[in-house]
Amino acid sequence: MQISENIRSVESRIAQACRRSTPVRCADEVTLVAVSKTKPVSALQEAYDAGMRDFGENKVQEIMEKYDCLPHDIRWHLIGHLQTNKVKYIADKVYMIHSLDSVHLAQEIEKQCAKIERVMPVLVQVNVAEEESKFGISCEDTENFVREAAQLSHLHICGLMTVAPFVTDPHKNRETFSKLRKLLLDIARKNIDNVSMNVLSMGMSGDYEVAIEEGATMIRVGTNIFGARDYR
Ligand SMILES: *Cc1c(COP(=O)(O)O)cnc(C)c1O
Repeated sequence: MQISENIRSVESRIAQACRRSTPVRCADEVTLVAVSKTKPVSALQEAYDAGMRDFGENKVQEIMEKYDCLPHDIRWHLIGHLQTNKVKYIADKVYMIHSLDSVHLAQEIEKQCAKIERVMPVLVQVNVAEEESKFGISCEDTENFVREAAQLSHLHICGLMTVAPFVTDPHKNRETFSKLRKLLLDIARKNIDNVSMNVLSMGMSGDYEVAIEEGATMIRVGTNIFGARDYR
């Protein structure tokens, strides 16, 4: 029961953040991705029963383990760093990859998706705050990177993603979020073939409301839905 209550509460905060935005946004423009990493299948099932269909995981192994135990209309989002040698395991399973961060990875996604004749929706991960510990392309290099990855016909670049710094005051991430949105709009204006800049994946439990005010179309929320993670 707790999980479904948590989902309702996040959804109502999404709606409020949409109303606070300028211009006012519509709550159905924002997709809530339930980040279920480290959580048992029973917790995901509970979220599913409460209506969730989009789930985010950061490990290939975990998606593989959970995939067969849960309904197949779930949309799995790969949100963590993806090692090239693991693309083959998830190419037919994930709905979208949020963490495209190298040409090498793009080429491997191309290769594996060509084999199974599908086009993979991807987001380019941008290290907006230029944190050394984080993966992602710098803002400066993003347009060129997008142009290069757009040459690959089994990838479709749908937008940008960032993991903002950990902060206790969410407003400190406002600038990071607005910078990513500007970058998205800049690239959208270039009308690059095989690129649509519709998805802006930003905002987590601590800062998703600010991210929505700054234009997020996908938020990735774990703790506020499933509770704190227990890493053993
Ligand atoms: C874990 C994770 C999240 C969710 O974090 P919470 O603070 O628990 O909401 C979002 N995005 C990425 C990339 C993550 O790894």
